[in-house]
Amino acid sequence: MKNSKKAISKTNGRGKLQLVAKADAAAKTAEHRKVVPLNERRLNFGEKWKYAPAPEDNKYIKIAPRHELFIDGKFVAPSTGKYFESLNPATEEKLTEIALAGEQDVDLAVKAARRAYDKTWGKMTGRERGKYLYRIARIIQEKSRELAILETMDGGKTIKESRDVDLPLVAAHFFYHAGWADKLQYAFPGRNAQSLGVVGQIIPWNFPLLMAAWKIAPALACGNTVVLKPAETTSITAMRLAEIFQEAGLPEGVVNIVTGAGQTGAAIAAHADIDKLAFTGSTEVGKMIAKSVAGTRKKLTLELGGKAANIIFDDAPIDQAIEGIISGIYFNQGHVCCAGSRLLVQEGVFPTVIKKLRDRIQTLRVGNPLDKNTDIGAINSKPQLEKIRELVESGVAEGAELVQPKCELPAKGYWYPPSFLTGVTASHRVAQEEIFGPVLSVMTFRTPEEAVERANNTPYGLSAGVWTDKGSKIFKIVNKLRAGVVWANTYNKFDPTSPFGGYKESGFGREGGLQGLAAYTRLS
Ligand code: NDP
Repeated sequence: MKNSKKAISKTNGRGKLQLVAKADAAAKTAEHRKVVPLNERRLNFGEKWKYAPAPEDNKYIKIAPRHELFIDGKFVAPSTGKYFESLNPATEEKLTEIALAGEQDVDLAVKAARRAYDKTWGKMTGRERGKYLYRIARIIQEKSRELAILETMDGGKTIKESRDVDLPLVAAHFFYHAGWADKLQYAFPGRNAQSLGVVGQIIPWNFPLLMAAWKIAPALACGNTVVLKPAETTSITAMRLAEIFQEAGLPEGVVNIVTGAGQTGAAIAAHADIDKLAFTGSTEVGKMIAKSVAGTRKKLTLELGGKAANIIFDDAPIDQAIEGIISGIYFNQGHVCCAGSRLLVQEGVFPTVIKKLRDRIQTLRVGNPLDKNTDIGAINSKPQLEKIRELVESGVAEGAELVQPKCELPAKGYWYPPSFLTGVTASHRVAQEEIFGPVLSVMTFRTPEEAVERANNTPYGLSAGVWTDKGSKIFKIVNKLRAGVVWANTYNKFDPTSPFGGYKESGFGREGGLQGLAAYTRLS
């Protein structure tokens, strides 16, 4: 082919060259029609788009070999005498040992919180409480680089997310609630907002520091004291937060942090002197907690799992929607309760969306979470990786087709490539159960009514996304979706002023905004 082209262009003038161009174009079209392997398709610029390594320097980060409990303003050894290991999921290296709190330690923490509530915090004016919250927010900002690195090392999330999303939001939550502390009468006009007392808070591993901020900041702003339990695999930054509380001069016992496994959480939930429980985690454990609290005077808010529908209508701006799909499911390795894990695509644009999605996922960089260019970091723990694998295998066994780019995964650590499953039906486990990993289940729909029906066909009701060119369609659809948060032409946007929470098996109660404040007050 090359030789014949050469011959024509050598022997003939301009007109013949046009013929050559046509022949070239025809050859290219034929080439495009061939099935090109996934890793060779468009958007794969090969070496041209290869980034040089840009790892965040963590040499100066000091992690103590052992972390104790934080009770009554001091770091104390657990009564159990036991410690468990905390690993870096990207390297499987041991980072530190974390104290295992038993029932006796939980009791000491609750007693310290009660004393602080009765003697200092509960009596303090809102204006004074606000000053402490401001101080904490400012110290968090000052230490944000160190905290972001620690969050990435401990949890496996990428540094660009912990640096640009988690930490700014952590500080924002403390600032926002500092502002409310002396203005509760304006938050609830005509009503008297009183604190509740001692609050027990149990948080998960997907946004360790951010979940701590979501819980602690509003509780303190409203005059409550706290006993917090971080997740077993991600306790380091919570203990660093305890140091920040000391540095801010927060009175002793106002926040107590007890580390441990599920049993430690259960001991908090069961403690008789807790006035309110706030839990974020799996629906399974949420149900157990609801049962243990039933019949007591304890107030309860539950922020549980989700299986959000991200709905793409055929009039959507497709390129933007692709970015929304990507951030909806691959942000934080998919360890996000509100992840857009079910993609509903209108049939007319299905081939285009799938093609663009295939192209786009192969450009995602998986690997060292401390590298500033990494898009997808490590899976938080080995059990979570096994859960993702098991669910994806079940999807394939049930008839779905798995699409994964070719990417080299590091030899050590817990990794899963960005993936999506097509041919998923509503009855498949991957359409119903939370995978909590970088895996998207793709389905189609024909009409807006069908989209709504499919979106609501889940036991969960935490979040959803709608992509369309028409504002009227957004309003119409959003009002029919049974989800606590619905994003339109965007996804995964968070702000402390905006309430967050679910319907159905995604829990009840709201965090953030005025509704979040109300959950930490008794209104009379
Ligand atoms: P869990 O619900 O088990 O954990 C959440 C928190 O509750 C952790 O601090 C955990 O401690 C604690 N806990 C565990 N058992 C009890 C109990 N009986 N009583 C009181 N507290 C308890 O979630 P997992 O970490 O096991 O994750 C499992 C699944 O949950 C994930 O795959 C995901 O689907 C979902 N999940 C949802 C989240 C969300 O934001 N909605 C967040 C995290 C998980 P410990 O970690 O030490 O076990």
